[in-house]
Amino acid sequence: MLKRERDRRHDAKRGSARQRGYSARWDRLAKLFRDRHPMCAMCEARGHITPSACVDHIRPHKGDPILFWDQNNWQALCTPCHSSVKQSDERDGGRRVGVDGWPVDPKHRVHVG
Ligand SMILES: [Zn+2]
Repeated sequence: MLKRERDRRHDAKRGSARQRGYSARWDRLAKLFRDRHPMCAMCEARGHITPSACVDHIRPHKGDPILFWDQNNWQALCTPCHSSVKQSDERDGGRRVGVDGWPVDPKHRVHVG
């Protein structure tokens, strides 16, 4: 319980998504996804074995809830791979997503729900 309180405070600056319960759902599903995909998909493709740290959207969801929640569109990544994907995405249209896969932009359509 105490840890939860601390997490909530830590997340407060990230906007209202968590208060709406979306992110709790995302956290839960992403954790289950990573249980099934414990290794980074991009590292694995290059022959490296790296534990995954987050879940990424293969096709940018750009706020589309169908794409956002479609687990066929998810891949487990390590933090360095996730960062490299995000950097190219940002050059590619300004999609900004936190390390947990959640959009950083508080005006993002996912947050508006
Ligand atoms: Zn990786």
